[in-house]
Amino acid sequence: AADGLTLDAEAIALDRAHVFHSWSAQAHVAPFVVAGGSGSTVWDHAGHRYLDFSSQLVNTNIGHQHPRVVDAIREQASVLATVAPATANLTRGRAAEAILAHVPDALTKVFFTNAGADAVENAIRLARLHTGRDKVVSHYRSYHGNTGAAVVATGDWRRVPNEYARGHVHAFGPYLYRTEFWATTPQEECARALHHLERVVQSEGADSVAAILLETVPGTAGVLVPPDGYLAGVREIADRYGIVLVLDEVMAGFGRTGSWFAFDQHDVVPDLVTFAKGVNSGYVPAGGVLISSRIAATFDERVFPGGLTYSGHPLAMAAIVATIGAMEDEGVVENAAAIGRDVLGPGLAELASRQPLVGEVRGTGVFWAVELVTDRDTRTPAPASVVGALKAACLARGLLPFVAENRVHVVPPCVVTPDEARRGLAVLDEALTEVTATR
Ligand code: PLP
Repeated sequence: AADGLTLDAEAIALDRAHVFHSWSAQAHVAPFVVAGGSGSTVWDHAGHRYLDFSSQLVNTNIGHQHPRVVDAIREQASVLATVAPATANLTRGRAAEAILAHVPDALTKVFFTNAGADAVENAIRLARLHTGRDKVVSHYRSYHGNTGAAVVATGDWRRVPNEYARGHVHAFGPYLYRTEFWATTPQEECARALHHLERVVQSEGADSVAAILLETVPGTAGVLVPPDGYLAGVREIADRYGIVLVLDEVMAGFGRTGSWFAFDQHDVVPDLVTFAKGVNSGYVPAGGVLISSRIAATFDERVFPGGLTYSGHPLAMAAIVATIGAMEDEGVVENAAAIGRDVLGPGLAELASRQPLVGEVRGTGVFWAVELVTDRDTRTPAPASVVGALKAACLARGLLPFVAENRVHVVPPCVVTPDEARRGLAVLDEALTEVTATR
């Protein structure tokens, strides 16, 4: 353990000296050392163990160090560790086939990317070129990735078909707890959000709108499960105006919601689907776009002006084949559904009934948000100090939580066991009690 403490100190010292972190004021980063993991547990060098209720960045759906996936990566590395995207590669073909086996027949092709943001970039590119329109309507409460400049900075011909003077339009989506529509029921929220979306489309000039791009279940924005009928209504609006419907399943896909894709639960078939994270649990970075046969056909004779050096990277592809195979054989998606239905759903509802800091809990599968408020009547969001104290109280008890704004997201791996899920809830309960008592 003494050695371990030294390694932990070295990890923090090197990180603080040289690593520039995402989305952070660098002087205020407080890194958490992860040296190893297994299933739903991670540990530091000194051996402190944490139940991972964050799935890192909501991506280790199959848990840490799944042996089948680790072996597949090792095996592929020993045969062919990299290959150009323009080649045919058996592992890549098998990865595409394995993904497409879990989506409606209308989706027939996969364009592989390195991660989620470039999947969204390429979905937008596909929609614009397919429709000949340029605007993209998405929700204010959403996250789709952090890219946007590279292809426009490019000097050669590849810039030109990607240059658009106009672009992005936002609308409010349904979120009954903090409704923008004065709604009091899910049905009202749904109908009014659809009316608002359609009015935005019309007001922008429907024939300039290429795509409606939505997270099926907005994740980082607070696990905003849409009311019944919302996505089917969006599909109707898209069809009415010849707009491509892109569903972003980067966070919600591959078991997170208790089904293979979140849209499976919403009676809707999108034209394009973006994915990343859970497709191989991030063991090797990968993402992509699932493409309908109709949109794919647009590029039968016409050049698709998009590409990436590592599109369909063999290590990532091997990890996809093994991950999906393990998820199928081990009932991982069914486990996520059962954990949500039998443990997290009822457990969080019970916690919400007792804990004054909890304003609302919502979610499905292993995808839940606990919204923290200082006053349940006014629904005033809890300040950063309360959320920080709660996070510290969880860590002190061996639970690694995911916090975002005034929320704790309960997002363990899809392989979490009922006992682990109950243990995590018990820690969250104790931590809430402690923070409430010391406020
Ligand atoms: N889309 C959604 C819904 C996401 O949640 C994320 C990341 O959290 C992204 C896109 C971007 O993915 P990446 O960070 O892999 O580029």
